[in-house]
Amino acid sequence: MRNIKYIVLHHSATDYQANKDDIDGKQIGRTICDRAQEKWKKEFPAYKCDYHFIIGHTGEVFKAQPIEQPAWHCTNYQANLVSVGICFLGNFENSETSSGEMPTEQFSAGVKLIKTLMKEYNIPLINVLRHRDVVSDITHTTNSTECPGKNLPYIQMLDTLRNGEPFFDIGKDYPYIKEVKTLKQLGIIKGDGYGNLGPKEYITREETMLIAYRIIKLLQN
Ligand SMILES: [Zn+2]
Repeated sequence: MRNIKYIVLHHSATDYQANKDDIDGKQIGRTICDRAQEKWKKEFPAYKCDYHFIIGHTGEVFKAQPIEQPAWHCTNYQANLVSVGICFLGNFENSETSSGEMPTEQFSAGVKLIKTLMKEYNIPLINVLRHRDVVSDITHTTNSTECPGKNLPYIQMLDTLRNGEPFFDIGKDYPYIKEVKTLKQLGIIKGDGYGNLGPKEYITREETMLIAYRIIKLLQN
């Protein structure tokens, strides 16, 4: 078995169904797999799909590439070798080709699958990434793609997966967890916007002023 360390989230950047009879997205999912097989048939005759899982609008989960095999789902060779690719059917960047908003069923199925994979392969939440968070081998930067789209509820998914813990990068055994929880509840600290606290990072004068301002505001109310 390969060593799986990351989960990478994608959108299909297509409609969520092939036609109106394609209720659960199975047909469009198959088209996505066919295209990948056609592309890689010479190098990898047994290749099934660029994603390990495809999740439709109704919350149906389709198994695509076998999890034991890498899939070429993000533009980073090393990352592909050690990750699982999950594709949400639909276009969450451009709402003209799709509803733009993820239905509850698709959201819940995604969270459930991520949770199962995290447990099975011992993957920390901080390693659940969007495709755009992965450094590209070509541009050597992140954000080389819009995938999985600005409307994919990534932060909400992480919040659900975090299960009441205030930040991803500190655990229950963090010595100041009580203080951090209280400060977060009061809105005095908010993290880096991606769910991390960065407990060992330096703080800037700007951040110090912002925190002081929030405390003063609280005391005035
Ligand atoms: Zn992608």
